[in-house]
Amino acid sequence: MNFTETLQNITKKSLSDCSNQELYLALLEIVRQKSADRIQPVTGRKLYYISAEFLIGKLLSNNLINLGLYEEARDALAAAGKNLSDIEEVEPEPSLGNGGLGRLAACFLDSLATLSLPGDGVGLRYHFGLFHQSFENGLQNEKPDPWLTAHSWAEKTDIVYPVELAGKTYTARLYKLAVTGYEGRTNTLNLFDLDTIDETIVKEGISFDKTEIAKNLTLFLYPDDSDETGRRLRVFQQYLMVSAGAQLILAESAARGCNYHDLADYAAIQINDTHPSMVIPELIRLLEEKGIAFEEAVDIVTKTCAYTNHTILAEALEKWPRAYLDSIVPQLMPIIEKLDKLARTRTEDETLAVIDTDDLVHMAHMDIHFTHSTNGVAALHTEILKNSELHGFYELYPEKFNNKTNGITFRRWLLECDPRLTAVLEKHIGSGFRKDASELEKLMNFADDTAVLNELTDVKKANKEALADWLLHTQNIVLNTNAVFDIQSKRLHEYKRQQLNLLYLIHTYYEIKAGHLPAVPLVSIFGAKAAPAYIIAKDIIHALLTLSKVVAADPEVSKWLQIVFIENYNVTAAEKLIPACDLSEQISLASKEASGTGNMKFMLNGALTLGTMDGANVEISEQAGEDNIYIFGQTSDQVIHRYAAGDYQAIQWYEGDPNIRRAIDFLTGPKMLAAGHEENLSRLHHELIHKDWFQTLPDFNAYVVRKEQALKDYACDPMGWRRKCLINIAKAGMFSSDRTIAEYNRDIWHLEK
Ligand SMILES: *Cc1c(COP(=O)(O)O)cnc(C)c1O
Repeated sequence: MNFTETLQNITKKSLSDCSNQELYLALLEIVRQKSADRIQPVTGRKLYYISAEFLIGKLLSNNLINLGLYEEARDALAAAGKNLSDIEEVEPEPSLGNGGLGRLAACFLDSLATLSLPGDGVGLRYHFGLFHQSFENGLQNEKPDPWLTAHSWAEKTDIVYPVELAGKTYTARLYKLAVTGYEGRTNTLNLFDLDTIDETIVKEGISFDKTEIAKNLTLFLYPDDSDETGRRLRVFQQYLMVSAGAQLILAESAARGCNYHDLADYAAIQINDTHPSMVIPELIRLLEEKGIAFEEAVDIVTKTCAYTNHTILAEALEKWPRAYLDSIVPQLMPIIEKLDKLARTRTEDETLAVIDTDDLVHMAHMDIHFTHSTNGVAALHTEILKNSELHGFYELYPEKFNNKTNGITFRRWLLECDPRLTAVLEKHIGSGFRKDASELEKLMNFADDTAVLNELTDVKKANKEALADWLLHTQNIVLNTNAVFDIQSKRLHEYKRQQLNLLYLIHTYYEIKAGHLPAVPLVSIFGAKAAPAYIIAKDIIHALLTLSKVVAADPEVSKWLQIVFIENYNVTAAEKLIPACDLSEQISLASKEASGTGNMKFMLNGALTLGTMDGANVEISEQAGEDNIYIFGQTSDQVIHRYAAGDYQAIQWYEGDPNIRRAIDFLTGPKMLAAGHEENLSRLHHELIHKDWFQTLPDFNAYVVRKEQALKDYACDPMGWRRKCLINIAKAGMFSSDRTIAEYNRDIWHLEK
């Protein structure tokens, strides 16, 4: 049967008579059958990757590519006058994640299946995700982001587990979502939910009664934690995930012959950041129920579990008041107390305790003491963990610490999102890079080949046109595609320093007004959600939206400068933005971005990085060579010393530098006040002068100089620029998550194919 016939067997009518919705459902069915064919029995250990987030993105095209059906499907539809990319529009993006951490989990699942390794995800089936972002009146507006439709990728099962929360028993139901590997096996993303969730309790925006657990538990990812009921809700969610997850792991292992004493031979558990940390005491509790003594249970769990640290930001290292745990998970508290006692027998250092003197339970500390591996996510990040942030732990357990530099799946971030670039690559270096990313290196043979460089320029231009087209249709924005496209898209956070870019744009505005024209027109694009309770982050969004209006209203400036903030940055948007980018903004304060993965996606798609020596930018710079990247700013050592000395005073920079002062004061000048809101603008103005915790001002001048150099290179030496882009693509191979997963497997999991 050919593809058209297979489709018609499902739709029961000719394809040209089908709606896109009907075709979407038929394709979903085909993918379902084909991926089920690739489920393989597990031998030996199986990995469980537990994570609060899986930012998987739309699945149709990805699954068609991984199953080798993409071309057939596209051609069969085209023959019936249908367009696969229109059908993709029907699919809602699953709202199961937030940012880089969740996207990493999704890339890892793809690579595990591609490498034919047995590795499943474990998480929660959120109904409304983080939130859907729109802009109204220059401000972020939050709404639920529904994605669960009658026919969804996540299939309901009959598998249920009891979970006890605050003394009451709830029933967690398992949903399974198939994860197809590229020419590999099919694994599963296991998502838990309650049948009793009531979506109608969400009233205005994203507010709802946070106390009714049976109705609200899986409505949102990261519910607002600015009050106590919100924080308690997060603990409820985390325990639902780990308790149901632990029961699933034990049941699957037992079904394969595990007698629980040998659990570590059947299961490896990777704890993705601290949200799933309670899986440690929960597994101990369950093993004790099976008749295993505490000491042995601790030993089994330590051998089974490993922990990934994703941040050194103190506020993100979770510490729960023991009173919350006493009331929500009283069954765990005696175990956590015993773990605290046990940890204290290993060290006298009070700062390494599980329960501190303020009765806070440190989740990361529990992870490091009671797992066999703690890894950072980029070389620099791991060094900072070992030498400063977690130095005491490193002295206690040097053998546990290791680095696993993050990666991205090239299936989604090259083959799927940039088919034009993929075609050019295949024409010159063959298709081996699809499975072996290091083959991209072959492109180096063409670094001085003008014809190839011109093809890359044509690809970029076409991708910029495609982005312009998409933005016109979705947000009614008209882009100047002759400009350089400069993009900063990532979560909004002060450490990522969108505010540094903001100050640059104001500076540029003044320069244009003074007749100092840039080397090339600049389109500066932002995409970012701010956490609903993060006031300053929202003020930065407001300032950028307001500046965008001010610039657009000024014909003298708008010829040279355009500022665009796209709504609801998610994977779908990222797949449009990244292939169209010329200059990738990776400007976090050195030491604060653990790795970044956006930086890798941009590099792979032939954008040049403008960045600080932070996270994986350091390794990008090593791979690409320092002539092919634009680095600026303080080093992480300088930053760490400045924090230790505690002598940073933003106001001195503000008062001492007329350009900085001019840019900051513009925020509350007449133009901005006329177009925006005084409250937000003056709060940000005040924050930058009197706090600036992430040291924007010391890096300002270096940033301006480096960015101007980049724009000049782009404008004045197009071939030189394109050559740098080619080298970046050729050297991106090490950032494939296939490499990352192979390293996790070699050093931590030891799974068999
Ligand atoms: C890759 C990705 C991120 C992570 O970006 P960083 O720049 O590494 O913070 C966040 N959101 C989406 C939608 C992504 O695809």
